[in-house]
Parts: sequence; structure tokens; C-alpha cells
Amino acid sequence: MYDFDSNLVVVSGPSGAGKDTIVSRLLEKDDSFSLSVSATTRAPRGEEVDGENYYFLTVEQFEEKISNNGFVEYAKYGSNYYGTLKCDVEARIENGKTVILVIEVNGAANIKKLYPGSLSIFVMPPSETVLENRLRNRQTDSEEAILKRMDIAKTEISRSKDYDYIVINDELDKAVEDAYEIIKNQRK
Ligand code: 5GP
Repeated sequence: MYDFDSNLVVVSGPSGAGKDTIVSRLLEKDDSFSLSVSATTRAPRGEEVDGENYYFLTVEQFEEKISNNGFVEYAKYGSNYYGTLKCDVEARIENGKTVILVIEVNGAANIKKLYPGSLSIFVMPPSETVLENRLRNRQTDSEEAILKRMDIAKTEISRSKDYDYIVINDELDKAVEDAYEIIKNQRK
């Protein structure tokens, strides 16, 4: 049995907080880090590639994997399923990697229950106003979608106290450094 606990890092944060950017910088910085590729039933967006960004599954395929015990955790977010694949995480840990899971708050809570020694980091925007401005500046969402994301963000932020660490993403370089130090210290 592999030691999952000390090799798992969970990163969550509201949409627009910058968690994906921080994680891609961490992956560039240290090749002992590896990003878990989740499965989802949502449709691919833009340039997303199957097997790279996500494994894009039908609802039937996803539910079959649930019954075959194929997920470490899974959750519904909006109307879609998202799940961390056991085989994907295991393969990365067997390769000696520290595996980063970028997942929403319910999945993160399940991981903490299953693997109490795992590390959890919440990426926090400096303020709600900054978050709203970032979402608006993306210019990809309608007004309604922005307000919905802000609503979800407030609920997510209220769960940030359940995480081991909160990294405030005010200045990107500093946030990346902070997250890096936290992970490195944990792995010592
Ligand atoms: P998006 O559709 O924007 O790619 O992702 C929506 C939310 O689902 C994000 O908060 C993302 O971190 C989360 N997510 C992605 N993969 C997983 C997963 O495997 N499990 C859980 N619980 N959440 C996930």
C-alpha cells in the first residue's frame, strides 16, 4: 500500500481566485509535483484536451466508475459530476510524485476524511471586489453567470477555515512562493 496521505496536496478556491495559475506555476517550478487529471461529465471548453485537462466521460461511464469503486472521491458541482480517479492518482504516487488535486470544497473535505495526513490549501482572493473584477475582466461570462459564480464563491470562502492553510492571492509571485514553502515544509 502506498502512502497516500503525505503525498497528496489538495488545492481549492473560488473560480477567479487564481488557483489554476498558481498550480501551473508550481508544476513548472518542481518536477516532483504532478497534477491529477480528474474525470468529468461536463463538455470540454475551448482548447481542452481529453486525458490532459480532464477525462471527459458520459454520465453512464461516470456512474459505472462510481459502482466499480474507481474514484478516490467525487462530487456534483453545478449539474456535472467531477471525480478524482484512483488509477490516475495511484500511478503518480507510485512514480514518487507529490500529487496535486485541484478540486471543489466537498471533494476536498472527503479527501481530508479519507487521508487525514494530506495537505489542504485554500487559495483566497484578496477581497470579494477583486474577485468580482477578475471575473468581469475575463469577459467570458454573462452578468447572470458572474453573479452566480460570486454566490458560489461566498459559500466556498465560508469553508476556507476547514483547510490547513490559506494562501491569499494578492500578488501572484508571492502566492506561488507561499504555496511552495507550505508544500516543501510539509514534505520534510
Ligand atoms: P471546471 O468546470 O471549472 O473545470 O471545474 C469546476 C470545479 O470542479 C472546480 O472547483 C474544480 O476545482 C472542481 N473539480 C475539478 N476536478 C474535480 C474532482 O475530481 N473532484 C472534485 N470534487 N472537484 C473537482
